[in-house]
Amino acid sequence: MSFGPGVPPTSAAGFPRPRPLDRCPCGSGRTYDGCCGTVLAGESATTSEQLMRSRYTAFVTGDARHLLATWHPGTRPESIDLDPRVRWQALEIVATDAGGEDDLRGVVEFRAAWRDGAETGVLHERSRFVNRSGAWWYLDGVVSP
Ligand SMILES: [Zn+2]
Repeated sequence: MSFGPGVPPTSAAGFPRPRPLDRCPCGSGRTYDGCCGTVLAGESATTSEQLMRSRYTAFVTGDARHLLATWHPGTRPESIDLDPRVRWQALEIVATDAGGEDDLRGVVEFRAAWRDGAETGVLHERSRFVNRSGAWWYLDGVVSP
């Protein structure tokens, strides 16, 4: 691997750091700045799918702060330890249920492919979200084998 031009910059901890006009890591096809970048910068997600995508992108970029800030206080862990060796490769939204601007609950089923050295895998989860006080929160998720 070279480190010449075209190699995306990484953060100090070794996570990729998307540039504003890069394609968003969540796979929406939009630019980072026109997609998850705004939510990671602190704007509220308007749908549960948008929050799900931003949380996936936070895993890609090692943004534990965003993961904690959007985790419902009732189910939120004390801290999150992200490993830069785990590379999230791709997100596929399988299905969504509710989760629109006027809904109070939403479910997003997704598959997220990862690589850790030579090992690869796919996380298949149904995540539940709640809309409280004008903001979407991640509540919990059920992982499928
Ligand atoms: Zn995105």
